[in-house]
Amino acid sequence: MVGFGYDSHRLAEGESLILGGVKIESKIGTIAHSDGDAVLHALCDALLGAAGLSDIGEHFPDTDPKYKNADSSLFITEAVRMIKEKSLRIINTDISIILERPKLKDYKQAIREGIAELCEIPSERVNIKAKTNEKMGFVGRLEGVAVYCVCEIQALDNKQ
Ligand code: MG
Repeated sequence: MVGFGYDSHRLAEGESLILGGVKIESKIGTIAHSDGDAVLHALCDALLGAAGLSDIGEHFPDTDPKYKNADSSLFITEAVRMIKEKSLRIINTDISIILERPKLKDYKQAIREGIAELCEIPSERVNIKAKTNEKMGFVGRLEGVAVYCVCEIQALDNKQ
């Protein structure tokens, strides 16, 4: 089964920028209820989507004070737990991060390894792509970051 996830967050000066669990050196960061990690939020929605488990907002509402400044890795840990509970396993994930700057080239490997660990899969099964939006739209104006993610999961007893 395939799942798709999307997330975006506003960017502002003086906020911290955490993407895929990695702190990025940047003058602008995300404004959010949790830690604003748009990569892990998109991934969480892709995982939940593949398993037919609705969306991140349903499981972890941003109106819940419990999730204020929450480390978004807990959303992934919980989604992975729910996937295992349904006798499913994650095959791979492919993530596109759309951010005008800073460039994420030097962070891609760390993001990849961190996500692999959270998803309990080898890092070759996590692919991270970083792109700009060619100065167009909200990403191009440095107003926000957007992330697209797909993942595949399958039944544990599928030997494929
Ligand atoms: Mg989000």
